[in-house]
Amino acid sequence: MVLTIRPSSPSVQAQPSADITHDRGDRFHDECGIFGIFGHEDASAHTALGLHALQHRGQEAAGIVACDGTQFHSERRIGLVGDTFSDLSVIARLKGQAAIGHNRYATTGDTVLRNVQPLFAEFAFGGFAVAHNGNLTNALTLRKELVDRGAIFQSTTDTEVIIHLMATSAHKPMVDRIIDALQQSEGAFSLVALADQQLIGVRDPHGVRPLVLGTLDSAYVFASETCALDIIGATFVRDVEPGELVVIDASGVHSMRPFTDRPRKFCVFEYIYFSRPDSVVEGLGVYETRKRIGIELAREYPVDADMVIPVPDSGTPAAMGFAEQSKIPFELGIVRNHYVGRTFIEPGDQIRHLGVKLKHNANRSLVAGKRVILVDDSIVRGTTSVKIVEMMRSAGAAEVHMRIASPPTTHSCFYGVDTPDREKLLAANNDIEAMRDYIGVDSLSFVSHDGLYRAMGHGKRDAENPQYCDACFTGDYPVALTDEDGGASARQLSLLAERA
Ligand code: AMP
Repeated sequence: MVLTIRPSSPSVQAQPSADITHDRGDRFHDECGIFGIFGHEDASAHTALGLHALQHRGQEAAGIVACDGTQFHSERRIGLVGDTFSDLSVIARLKGQAAIGHNRYATTGDTVLRNVQPLFAEFAFGGFAVAHNGNLTNALTLRKELVDRGAIFQSTTDTEVIIHLMATSAHKPMVDRIIDALQQSEGAFSLVALADQQLIGVRDPHGVRPLVLGTLDSAYVFASETCALDIIGATFVRDVEPGELVVIDASGVHSMRPFTDRPRKFCVFEYIYFSRPDSVVEGLGVYETRKRIGIELAREYPVDADMVIPVPDSGTPAAMGFAEQSKIPFELGIVRNHYVGRTFIEPGDQIRHLGVKLKHNANRSLVAGKRVILVDDSIVRGTTSVKIVEMMRSAGAAEVHMRIASPPTTHSCFYGVDTPDREKLLAANNDIEAMRDYIGVDSLSFVSHDGLYRAMGHGKRDAENPQYCDACFTGDYPVALTDEDGGASARQLSLLAERA
């Protein structure tokens, strides 16, 4: 079936047409970077820069919707931010003093333009655009109910559910409609939304995904991470709080608390891998936190060796901490080619294997005959580790030890980090000795749960009420998995629900 998305409003700039095919994935994939700005004459240019700083959160597609007070202007394309938004004529078309933007990350499924955010809709109250980081765990269930009531979906994103819930809300004002929609939504959401006179930033009651508020001159800015404030010279004001909805309009900043209080459950994996090391997330510097995890790892699992080698780039800060604590020299024994994307971007297993080789190479003259400790942030499928260890062995390393700066990843994430299905997670099916054997190392250790929590400034993990969402390491899911648990026969529902 080939459809072409038309802009939902004549005031929206026409978008390139797209061939629509089915997402091959069996669940929604959202792992994204979001940005919003209100009250700046270069709103879209700043949004493009903010998205560029957030590129690590999503490399599949990027979009910006700007508003000049009455008209909305939109550009959404497949590709990196710079592929689309370094073209000044594109920025010039995105007129207005307010804009929001989105980087999309998807690891399986066809890349389809209709899923690229921000999504735009024309409501009775006017135009409305929304960009979402996170994953709604009852999206399929809600979607089925909406489709049964006559809704026609244009994308396969969970975010569109929010738009339909807003459209069918009994409330009239836009802010009341979005609150109504989000009160029915379960799971993780950090959102930025744009109406003709308002910018909104909101985080789910558990605060699973990050969102910060900043200022730039007299303008206000929302961003997934502080690195996106830095790039435009904005000043960090504060994190948007879990369960907080912030409305920005011509009269200033208005904070609301429309949700039932829930325990704070920020995603611990943001610190381990996902956020950029120069960001400060929920009061903790990501780089320093990763380094402290490396220190804990060296305390827990010391090993005698000649050098500590990071698996670049994400293993680097932890390797520095490990080297500092163990007093073993830190060396760049693996060199990374920066001109290839993250391994996970490649959907097929064959290409993913190739991707690891394309990305890393052993520094032969350095490692030959040496006992090396490799430090990486995480093991997911084990693909990277197997290849890196093979590389070290063929470069002549005498011993290869591996230390991982997170506990074993035993469970999938349903809150917006795109981990594979559980059966593909190496640690879900193997104990540490079996993993050591599979990866081919002389020793393998993972930081303990308590070691991780110590690195984050806590004495230990609170088993009754963990300080973070760490479901990927524990299976302790803080928010109901309504769709996964078979809500409304959700798993049988086609992603193109209107065809089911
Ligand atoms: P794997 O090769 O499947 O074991 O993947 C492990 C590598 O992927 C680690 O070196 C991480 O840096 C990286 N990684 C971990 N989680 C993710 C994720 N959700 N998306 C992309 N890359 C990841």
